[in-house]
Amino acid sequence: CGITGYIGDEIVLDGDDEVASVGDIVHEGLRNLEYRGYDSAGVALVGDSSGLTVAKRSGEVDNLTVPDVADATLGVGHTRWSTHGPPTDANAHPHTDCVGDVAVVHNGIVENHEDLRTELADHEFTSDTDTEVIPHLIEEELAAQRGEGDLLDAVRAVEDRLEGSYAICAVREGDDRIVVARRGSPLVLGRDDEATFLASDVTAFLEHTRDVTYLEDGDVAALSAEGVEVYADGDLVDRGVETVTWEAD
Ligand code: GLU
Repeated sequence: CGITGYIGDEIVLDGDDEVASVGDIVHEGLRNLEYRGYDSAGVALVGDSSGLTVAKRSGEVDNLTVPDVADATLGVGHTRWSTHGPPTDANAHPHTDCVGDVAVVHNGIVENHEDLRTELADHEFTSDTDTEVIPHLIEEELAAQRGEGDLLDAVRAVEDRLEGSYAICAVREGDDRIVVARRGSPLVLGRDDEATFLASDVTAFLEHTRDVTYLEDGDVAALSAEGVEVYADGDLVDRGVETVTWEAD
């Protein structure tokens, strides 16, 4: 199981001559995480005019067709190791809200998912997963806020309602950030010029950058191409940058 993501300019991948799309970069990150074990894979891509595009299926990462979204500026990917619900296409991540503009990938377990599903009785669920409560809770928070709502504020509010262990990434149509949260599951950020990477394991993006920031339990962060903002208990914090010196196999 793993999470990967990218936001920023297009870059050239190893062995290629041409710049890769965001979808290609996320797909490569998923391949680098395959060793962790999984039963399903999926991606969510966001572009200025294309909006939110989700693709997911059970089985191998190589069998996942990552949509060719030319204008995508950010994307997240997920390899699933099922805990709640069998490894079907519908249960693969990302999961979306009813409105269809928010997508979430999650590693770990939402222990209180049954209670939360009961509270979300008027939402239509499309999977058997514990995870799917998260996009629906975000949708409720966004609706409760004034105007369009803010994804970072929504994820911070939702985090307070989740019990269990998790690493979460949320994206939203029309928003040029990836919002992440972690408690009990690993999540590491990587910075390069004009680009930010994220993954459960630094090996997912080590060929692109070695400057990494490790999130701590309870952190919520907003990632953009320009940098990262990390919050702990509502306060902006500096988690520092470490340079990875070891070589991946
Ligand atoms: N509990 C979630 C599910 O069953 C996430 C599993 C994972 O960590 O991949 O879909």
